[in-house]
Amino acid sequence: MPARVCVCIRESTCEKALEALANACQWADLAEIRADYIEDLDVRGLLRQKPCPVLFTLRSRSEGGEYAGAERTRLETLIQAAKAGADWVDVEFSAYWQGVFDGVPKEKLILSYHNFDTTPDQLELLADEMASSGAGIVKIATTAKSLSDNLKIRRLLGHAAAKGTSLCALAMGRRGIPSRILGPQWGSWMVFASMPGGSATADGQISADNLVHQYRVREISTDTEMYGVVGNPLGHSLSPQIHNTAFLARGRDAVLLPLEAESVDDFTEFCGEVNVRGACITIPYKRELCSRAASLSVEADRIGAVNTLLRTGQGWHGANTDVEGFLKPLRKRTRISRKKAVVLGAGGAARAVVYGLTSEGAEVCVAARDPARGRDLAASFNAESAPWDRLEKLRWDLLVNTTPVGMSPSADVSPVAREWLTGEWVYDLVYNPRETKLLTDAASRGCKTISGVEMFFAQASKQQLIWCGAPVPENAMQDALALALDPIDRRDK
Ligand code: NAP
Repeated sequence: MPARVCVCIRESTCEKALEALANACQWADLAEIRADYIEDLDVRGLLRQKPCPVLFTLRSRSEGGEYAGAERTRLETLIQAAKAGADWVDVEFSAYWQGVFDGVPKEKLILSYHNFDTTPDQLELLADEMASSGAGIVKIATTAKSLSDNLKIRRLLGHAAAKGTSLCALAMGRRGIPSRILGPQWGSWMVFASMPGGSATADGQISADNLVHQYRVREISTDTEMYGVVGNPLGHSLSPQIHNTAFLARGRDAVLLPLEAESVDDFTEFCGEVNVRGACITIPYKRELCSRAASLSVEADRIGAVNTLLRTGQGWHGANTDVEGFLKPLRKRTRISRKKAVVLGAGGAARAVVYGLTSEGAEVCVAARDPARGRDLAASFNAESAPWDRLEKLRWDLLVNTTPVGMSPSADVSPVAREWLTGEWVYDLVYNPRETKLLTDAASRGCKTISGVEMFFAQASKQQLIWCGAPVPENAMQDALALALDPIDRRDK
């Protein structure tokens, strides 16, 4: 059965809630009205005009909601809503509801349990107890502390299916996002989403348009290929937008999920049960996952870091598309050989940059705020190093920023003083915003500039090639990237 998508509506007046309900119909099968946020609540008036099936919820403060009135009034309001046409009402397992809701048909009752701290073991016992207490549908929402907590939700849903229980289960928080996207395929009775452009009602909630169009929640099946972007934290990653658009344009039944893992072992445990076919790897796991791969591309082996994984019969194959991604926009514009290049920073991306530049015959000097780190990196690739406080003394044809300085939301800073920008080319790896302060300063000093967006695009295209082969749907990917970056650029202007 296709996923049942429920949009959560969090508005302060009945009028706004009705407007949102009408809007929600385009993505949702039903909408949850969070009546605890409504200040002029008129239960009958609201439900009389509902344009789609409605779940009515009046969450108390002790359960993470806004309702601060008497408990008895709260339960009476829920009963009133059930009688006035709500298709379902949500009542907490912890409430004194038994005996009180006798007049409400069982199939209208969603009995809920929320845990805002953790995802406990033994959720199956809890689900059985809740199911036996007379509600038609059970909802269990926990908090994911690790990526593997999603597996507890998956097992719980398997258990409920075997018992014939209608269960909606999910893990809240950023690490629980896979349970929100894969939940329906694992058997969840419904999946919650936030109103596009509105506020989420729970941590980790995905907006309904993204859930339906980007993650294709209604189409995911056991045949769908799984990919992930793996890192910690993952807040800044645009990989889901660009890769899911590419899969769609190829007509490939595949989805890429955000997989925020607390460790490499956490990711490995998740992959033990969910068949992840490929992954983009980001901070801080590029080096550790390199050492765990069964085979490596030449670049990944030389750099000692992977940003791409592909599952093979022997285990993970690791590649590093940052090198090609970095070089492509530069090669297009100029000859790299014999250029004097200064690379700012000595982290994971700097390794790919220094390797790429030295292999093309550039003379590279690494400047890092941690001089020992800069020296180590330079020594690995036959480059020079210089202390950060001597930057002003260096002369260059190409300056490459590999530090995160200037990245949104701290877009008003540059890693170097404007007066020092006297060379020919400035390349900033930071891609959000597109035009960083460093690039704006450089252009105003007459330098030619390259934005990190070009590298991001080129390295993602190479990942698509590794996972799915040619041709790569570049136009669709460009459009998706522009769409994702526009709001960031507007905000940082
Ligand atoms: P990383 O491994 O954490 O390395 C960051 C480097 O920047 C480290 O050397 C760090 O120094 C240095 N640094 C951090 N803050 C600094 C500051 N305020 N002043 C001077 N140096 C500072 O991160 P990464 O993976 O290399 O990524 C770095 C940046 O490149 C990020 O913004 C990332 O988004 C971007 N990137 C872009 C692409 C693309 O496709 N465009 C690809 C990869 C990365 P310490 O070692 O002293 O902390």
